[in-house]
Amino acid sequence: MERGRTLSRTLCGNTRSLREGRHFPVDMIVPKGVEWTVSEIRVRTSRRIEALDITVEVRRAAKAAPGSNVHLLCLHTTCGLTINENADPAVMKDIIDALDRLVPADHPYSHREGNSDAHIKSSLVGHSLTIPLSGNDLVLGTWQGIYLMEFDGPRERRIAVSVS
Ligand code: ZN
Repeated sequence: MERGRTLSRTLCGNTRSLREGRHFPVDMIVPKGVEWTVSEIRVRTSRRIEALDITVEVRRAAKAAPGSNVHLLCLHTTCGLTINENADPAVMKDIIDALDRLVPADHPYSHREGNSDAHIKSSLVGHSLTIPLSGNDLVLGTWQGIYLMEFDGPRERRIAVSVS
């Protein structure tokens, strides 16, 4: 609570400095004593396009540090993160099929690497998630799972995890 008040007071009281493009010292935005722990989840995907359930890995990483929220950032430009149903695998198949119809792989894109569809799908799905924690465990709905959405695999993927 104190941190949120400090942040808005700091930003509101310095609008002129913001307009002038000055940088704030870190301790003006994140008060001293607040620790941010960053760790990493590494997973290996097995197909070019797949939805890989990483809920167990995120839960394990979140338990490593006390806090109220876990923040995830996918460190790549051709995969993403999302939350959706992990009970019926047909749901994730339908999502992948819908993204394929929306962003076909064989369109004549400008990017010459041949993976433009993966870049676009990655941006559509998004790269980050924030999930609340209760008692060091993830607060998720009954049917919700956390997925790494692979669009240009198979390869090793890294996800930065911080708990605050
Ligand atoms: Zn590319």
